[in-house]
Amino acid sequence: MGYSLNHRETDALFDRLAAEYKIYAPKRFAKQGRYSDTDIVRYDEIHTAEEIVWDKKSDFSAKEVLTPVTEPIFYFTEDEYRESGAPKKKILIFLRPCDINAFEHQDRIYLDNGGFCDSYYQRMREKTRFVLMECTEGWDTCFCCSMGANRAEEYSAAVRHTEEGILWSVKDEELAPHFAGCEEVDWQLQFIEKNQFDVKIPEIADKETLAKLKKHPMWQEYNDRCVSCGSCTLACSTCTCFTTRDKIYSENAMAGERRRVHDSCQIAGFDAMAGGHGFRTTPADRIRYRALHKVHDYKARFGDYHMCVGCGRCSARCPKFISFPAIINKMSAALEEIAAEASK
Ligand code: SF4
Ligand code: SF4
Repeated sequence: MGYSLNHRETDALFDRLAAEYKIYAPKRFAKQGRYSDTDIVRYDEIHTAEEIVWDKKSDFSAKEVLTPVTEPIFYFTEDEYRESGAPKKKILIFLRPCDINAFEHQDRIYLDNGGFCDSYYQRMREKTRFVLMECTEGWDTCFCCSMGANRAEEYSAAVRHTEEGILWSVKDEELAPHFAGCEEVDWQLQFIEKNQFDVKIPEIADKETLAKLKKHPMWQEYNDRCVSCGSCTLACSTCTCFTTRDKIYSENAMAGERRRVHDSCQIAGFDAMAGGHGFRTTPADRIRYRALHKVHDYKARFGDYHMCVGCGRCSARCPKFISFPAIINKMSAALEEIAAEASK
């Protein structure tokens, strides 16, 4: 069912929803950007529709609502421990189609990965509903169309922002009562059909080709460019790696909390093993690993989609201007070279 709400009606709707839900959306944080006098847009709780940033892609992804950069998972003393509390209210997240597709990958990794289920993610996810923000133009780092992530169906409601207010399309019966008495309208949700550029997705025919691609000289430039800061994976809507850290409250090391903290395969030492062994010891090794994971390994394992949804946040956040779509295109060009060499 479709509804049209002006700004005043939307704020009243948010007041009604707030009794049941915590509402999260991309929000502007003034002067907290990378450069002086620049803002940052990231996910946070909102109370009015005015706080939602519609005209800019968030610098960080919606995954931070369910898996914050750092979160306590349990508290301990010498003799006992207590799990951190689950959220009391349900969660409503405003996000774009690529981000909803990204959550499909998050769900797979956290909820159904080799028979293991992450209870900390599960308790958040069970309470979460999505509100799709219509996205028809994208931004200069987006390549969702090439990744097939420009459309999404798994949402409770969809919205279009207009000068007069917000158009709503409500699918979820749980949300419907909040719209009783609102003006009904027919409108059609639209999706972006073409980004500003396309990427050529690499098709790796067999293990022999994969081995040749891993050794290809294309990766070497990243030894000079990548500084292994991990900004790309922190911003990535599909990266899920984390580590744990213990925080001790005082001199007594037996009382404190264990926190889950985002980790990054791009940082040196991520793969460190006992005895000082490591597998990806250079920036080029680590970039190659991330790129293959996003556009080959994940799909090879699960059989349906590539992990990357083309949100472009990794490229936008990289301090060395390393473009992920450029890496993907270089992989495709390298594979053509490898095929031509093999056919000689
Ligand atoms: S690899 Fe880059 S473009 Fe792909 S999902 Fe992650 S941040 Fe988005
Ligand atoms: S690719 Fe860019 S953002 Fe990622 S680790 Fe390297 S320098 Fe940092």
